[in-house]
Amino acid sequence: MAKKKQFKAESKRLLDLMINSIYTHKEIFLRELVSNASDAIDKYYYESQGHADASQFEIRIEPNKEARTLTISDTGIGMSKEELEENLGTIAKSGSLAFKEEMKKKEENNDEDVDIIGQFGVGFYSAFMVAKDVRVITKKAGSDEAYEWVSAGEDGYEITPCTKETNGTTIILTLKEDTDEEKYSQYLETYELKELIKKYSDYIRYPIKMNVETQKMKEGTEESEKPEYETVVEDQTLNSMVPLWKRQKSKITDEEYNQFYKDHFYDYQDPQKVIHFSVEGNTSFTALLYIPSHLPQGFYSQDYKKGLQLYCRGVFIMDHAEELLPDSLRFVKGLVDSQDLSLNISREMLQHDHQLKLIAGRGTTSRKRTHKIDKF
Ligand code: ADP
Repeated sequence: MAKKKQFKAESKRLLDLMINSIYTHKEIFLRELVSNASDAIDKYYYESQGHADASQFEIRIEPNKEARTLTISDTGIGMSKEELEENLGTIAKSGSLAFKEEMKKKEENNDEDVDIIGQFGVGFYSAFMVAKDVRVITKKAGSDEAYEWVSAGEDGYEITPCTKETNGTTIILTLKEDTDEEKYSQYLETYELKELIKKYSDYIRYPIKMNVETQKMKEGTEESEKPEYETVVEDQTLNSMVPLWKRQKSKITDEEYNQFYKDHFYDYQDPQKVIHFSVEGNTSFTALLYIPSHLPQGFYSQDYKKGLQLYCRGVFIMDHAEELLPDSLRFVKGLVDSQDLSLNISREMLQHDHQLKLIAGRGTTSRKRTHKIDKF
C-alpha cells in the first residue's frame, strides 16, 4: 500500500493569504488581540481554580506616537517557550481551543461552559495587517523564565530568553508606514482606540485600561471668573465589562434600558417598549429588543438596513443580522447575544445562517408564550 503523505503548506504564502484575505476590516486586529488577552486571563483564573488575585486582572493598551508602537499587555497565564513555538509558530494552531476541550473533559459532570473566545488559531496573525513587526514578551504563570518572540511576518520568527517581572503577555506592534489609502497611525490615537474598544470589546469581562490625557480644572480656580485648566493623565477603563443584557432584569432600571437604547441605536427619544429575554436550549441566547417611539431615521430610504446586532460571547460580530427580523418588524432595534454560534474564520460571519433562523424561530415561540408578540 502506498505510504500516506502529509500535506505541506507554504507558510509564508499562507500567512500572506491570511493577512490579506480573511478580514474585511484591518481594525479587527485589536479585537483579536484583546480577545486573546481575555482568554489568557480566563485560563489563569481557571488554572488557579479561582485563587488568583482578581484585582490584578487587566488588559492594557499603550500607544506610543514617537516610537510608532501600540502595546497590548495582559496579566494572564502567559506562554512557555514550547507554547510560544506551538501557538505562534504554527498557523491555525489554537492553544485556546485545546484548553477549552481539556477543561470540558475535566468537568464532564459539570456542564458549565468555559467561556473562551479563541478557536481558530489565526486571530493573532491579524496583527500583521497593521504592523511591520510584532514582538511578544511573555512569562508563564509559575515559571521564572520569560521569552521574546519577534517576527516581521514574512521571514519567520525568533525566540530568545528575556526578562519580565510578572506573568502574562505583552505584545508590541510597530505600525506600518501610512500610505495614501491606509492611515495606520490612526491606531495610535486615543480617540480611535477608545472607539474600537467600545465597538468590539466593550463586554470583555476584564478591565481594558489606557492612560488618557484629559483637561482638568486647576484646583482652587473653580470660584474665579477665569478657571484655569491643566492636562492630567488619567488611567481610564475603556470597556463596560458586564453587558446590560446579561444583568438580572429586576436590577435594571427603565433609565438604564432607555439610555442604553439611545447610546447604542442613536436615537434621541426613549423607546416605546423594551423586551428583554433569554432562551435556553441547543442554541441559547439572550435578546434585548426595543420598539422605537417613532419610525427610525431613514426608514423609507433605500439605504435603511433592518436587522439586529449580533454578539457571540459578548464580542461584537455584526451590525445588521437581517435574518433575525421579518420585514414586517424592520423598525425594531436591538441585539442578540449567543454563545452557541459557529462563526466563520474571520468571525465576521456565521458559518451557517440557519442558526439565525433557529434563533428567530425560537424567539418567535418564546415571545408568543410570554408577551403575545407574534414574532421578532
Ligand atoms: P485563537 O485565539 O483563535 O486560538 P490566535 O492565532 O489568536 O488563535 O492565537 C493562537 C494561540 O496563541 C492561542 O490559542 C493561545 O494559546 C496563544 N496566545 C495568543 N495570544 C496569547 C496571550 N495574550 N496570552 C497567552 N496565550 C496567547
